Amino acid sequence: MTSKEQMLASPKQLKWLKSLIKREWTDFDEKWVPRLEQIEATFAVCEAQGYDPDMINILLASQDQKQITMAGFDYLLERLNGKPFRKTEGGQQLSLGDETPATEDGYYKHDGTYFRVVHNRAGTNQYAHRMKFLMSPEEAKALAGTGTKAKVFTWVYAPGVFGKLKANEMVEDQTLTEAFGGLYSACCRCGALLNDPLSVKLNIGPVCGGRVFGEKFKGMLKQAKAELDSNNVSYVDG
Ligand SMILES: [Zn+2]
Repeated sequence: MTSKEQMLASPKQLKWLKSLIKREWTDFDEKWVPRLEQIEATFAVCEAQGYDPDMINILLASQDQKQITMAGFDYLLERLNGKPFRKTEGGQQLSLGDETPATEDGYYKHDGTYFRVVHNRAGTNQYAHRMKFLMSPEEAKALAGTGTKAKVFTWVYAPGVFGKLKANEMVEDQTLTEAFGGLYSACCRCGALLNDPLSVKLNIGPVCGGRVFGEKFKGMLKQAKAELDSNNVSYVDG
């Protein structure tokens, strides 16, 4: 029989721990601080080597240091989170409850407002930007696809918001482009007015589309072009 004291933390738990450990920690039992620093330093080694966070246990073992078990993870999470740890049956799976903090970069909708979470340049910290409109959605809609260059909104630094965002407030790619492109006629990433029929079709600018969707975007681009071509709509191919 295996217990949580013996079982190693899962890759998902370790990824989460890595993001939590970067935050400020206060009122931490002093006897745990050296261990926390050891874990933080080893995560930094993982990152520098391009390893996934779950490599940390292999690195710790190779340095004759204690590996992170499920029980150890529970202890750290409870304290780093400052909130009681929610367990699912069996205690191995993390439940994405309402209180689970946001840890990933991306787009979030919180209290009816969109936020974008990014890392700082050094990759040591995360913070949120708030969406700020520069024109009304009606104005944007009237100008979309007409070749006009304009900004519909901009992202402004929103201090203190990141810590309030929850994991389940993250907005998925599809919803995101439909919301920004469809409702605001704007590119979700840079806030530019979708001034070309191709961008309007995609609900995002062609350059930003590649950055948001990655490889998947090539197929989306091809399909959108084919649809415009079959309707004899001309667009800027770039
Ligand atoms: Zn853009």
